[in-house]
Amino acid sequence: MKNIKEYSLEELKQELIALGEKPYRAEQIFTWLYQEKVKSFEEMTNLSLALREKLEQNYTMCNFQILKKQESSDGTKKYLFDVLDGNAIETVLMQYHHGKTICVSSQIGCKMGCKFCASTGIAFVRNLTAGEIVEQVLAVEQDIGEHISNIVFMGIGEPFDNYDNVMKAIRIINHPKGLNIGARHISVSTSGIVPRIFDFAEEELQCTLSISLHATSNEKRSAMMPVNQAYPLEELMEACRNYIAKTNKRISFEYALAKDNNDNLEDAKQLVHLLKGMLCHVNLIPINKIENGKFVKSSNENIIRFRDFLNEHGIVATIRRELGSDIDAACGQLRRKNLQN
Ligand code: SAH
Repeated sequence: MKNIKEYSLEELKQELIALGEKPYRAEQIFTWLYQEKVKSFEEMTNLSLALREKLEQNYTMCNFQILKKQESSDGTKKYLFDVLDGNAIETVLMQYHHGKTICVSSQIGCKMGCKFCASTGIAFVRNLTAGEIVEQVLAVEQDIGEHISNIVFMGIGEPFDNYDNVMKAIRIINHPKGLNIGARHISVSTSGIVPRIFDFAEEELQCTLSISLHATSNEKRSAMMPVNQAYPLEELMEACRNYIAKTNKRISFEYALAKDNNDNLEDAKQLVHLLKGMLCHVNLIPINKIENGKFVKSSNENIIRFRDFLNEHGIVATIRRELGSDIDAACGQLRRKNLQN
């Protein structure tokens, strides 16, 4: 049976027409699912009993079960969800001054193999469907009973390696009759899949694009991120320039600072050179050390010096607050979890 949350509003209208129903029923169903956030067809009380039964016979609701919930001293919550096929995924809720942000996963596992990331070294299982991505947001909102203001695609997986499902999920999350989270409050982060960056420039979405840059030479970047061998820096930067030209939107470059690897002033100088004149922002992430990882966090002094150097040379840079590190919920700490764990 199909998951009712796999459909955009337009697609759901087509489904209802195929069932011999009026298309406006799709809007009512969307409202029940994403605004009332009900967990059963039975609760959709403005639909006839016959239609509710028909829906019940044709679709599932795909309500995730919370297998585990951990709370950090800083208020960050990490959820382990049962995705109903024997797999589990992690989703993180973060509390910022400006509101609540959910960090969603886009795949079960990841193929990218970034050397500093905990999602590396565990097998890739499959892409998440659009409905499973949407369900992460819905399940957290249901759990806390509050509306979320921001979504970041920075959990497990490479969103641009699951492009179509991620785009559809964004449209459901963004739709006024869906979860109604403004596109400007949605960020998609990629390790640098160049052809999809070109595609994303054509989507006419107001989302923020984040690029995991982390190094300024092909040698250094390839040593950290194997994806750089397929799509080297020159091609990546060209795709970024195209994106900015097409959308007139600022790109957020992520740069995880690792001690004695990419955190000295020479690196900062090269970063200024690489990004000069681009509409962008640099998000500096103090790298989180992972088990058996060779990359270690830069000293606070170096991080601040790096940021100040960028700012003094015309590149707007901020340091990302570290949230949830005590529950392994910080950047790069998420792992695919088995139900047995
Ligand atoms: N695959 C996507 C999104 C997931 S990772 C991407 O690569 O962009 C989200 C961000 O966390 C990326 O910028 C990633 O490079 C960064 N990250 C991964 N492991 C990290 C670690 N150990 N410390 C700090 N940041 C990390």
